[in-house]
Amino acid sequence: MSVTSTETENNPDLQTLYDQIEIRQVVESRLETVNLEDPGFGTVFSDHMAVIEYSERDHRWRTPRITPYDDFSCPPALIALHYGQSVFDGMKAFTTARNSIELFRPDMHIGRLNRSCRRLCIPELDSEVFLKTLRTLIHLDQEWVPVKRGNALYIRPLIFGTDANLGVRPSKKYTCLIMTSPVGAYYKEGINPVSLTTNPDYVRAARGGAGAAKTSGNYGSTLLPAQKAKEEGYTQILWLDAREYKYVEEVGTMNIFFKFKDKLVTPPAEGTILPGVIRDSVIQMARNWGIPVEERRISIDEVFEAHAEGTLQEIFGSGTAAVISPVGKIAHKGRTLETDMKQPGTFTKKMYDAITAIQYGEQKDPFSWMLPVVD
Ligand SMILES: *Cc1c(COP(=O)(O)O)cnc(C)c1O
Repeated sequence: MSVTSTETENNPDLQTLYDQIEIRQVVESRLETVNLEDPGFGTVFSDHMAVIEYSERDHRWRTPRITPYDDFSCPPALIALHYGQSVFDGMKAFTTARNSIELFRPDMHIGRLNRSCRRLCIPELDSEVFLKTLRTLIHLDQEWVPVKRGNALYIRPLIFGTDANLGVRPSKKYTCLIMTSPVGAYYKEGINPVSLTTNPDYVRAARGGAGAAKTSGNYGSTLLPAQKAKEEGYTQILWLDAREYKYVEEVGTMNIFFKFKDKLVTPPAEGTILPGVIRDSVIQMARNWGIPVEERRISIDEVFEAHAEGTLQEIFGSGTAAVISPVGKIAHKGRTLETDMKQPGTFTKKMYDAITAIQYGEQKDPFSWMLPVVD
């Protein structure tokens, strides 16, 4: 297997970058200690990681490096730890039926990472440089990409301010790390329905907040409500809007869809929800099937009414980790609505199958979502 060379042949600058990325390899690979058939989620890390540093001196991102994945030390006053000037993203690479390693919609993920950077006053990365670095990293750790259907290589870029300073202001220095982690299916139960509950004591993001950015601070504050939902026997919390506590927003780390008899409805990505790459893929796929998709506010009352009238057919969440996750039950203010807790709905299953078939290279890729990295 080799790095696909089509672009570099007609773009000498990118070849130069490949040549410049400094690679320090591990002395001994840890691969033998890992079970790629069942790696779990997010606890196993590949041998190497990429490091790109933003220099205070000349105000630019330096040439990327690839080093062994390892602990690092940092000052106790690290700005990112104290004030959350930190953003991340999450994407996947797959071993395909074509026996290549391919990334799913990396352009969308890099675009979003840079939008998150903008919201947090972090300097943006050149998307070409980022992609070249990622490709080099995956090429180097290609043996870590699981082959088993359902498993994948999860890619986690993280960018954070590294000044040691207790003043609340943007950092002058930054580090971008790209770590990769072989993962199995996100939900241990497989594609089994999950249950959700609202909780009027908590909201995730308000208008004008950072709800659309994948920034660390958005997640710490969700731990307590999520824990309470679990204690009550639900898989996750269903967020309603912060202003009126009326409109459905999203779930944990997933966007949400409601399948009615004749259409698909999902809340609009207008600042308070995270604009998911799978969300966008579901919308494209459904429209391609001729199913109208409405991106609009949908109240929790509308959901319960439609269910009572029998027009609401299915509910599902979408996100990189689980891809598609059927929602079988929603609890809100003492009322419970159940679609199906035993199995995913027909449409939900069809959507899951269609997106994963493209990711694993079993179907044509009509939307050009896949980018081969190693073939
Ligand atoms: C990452 C994330 C999603 C899903 O985004 P994808 O790009 O589809 O993985 C949805 N909501 C939140 C809060 C998220 O962090």
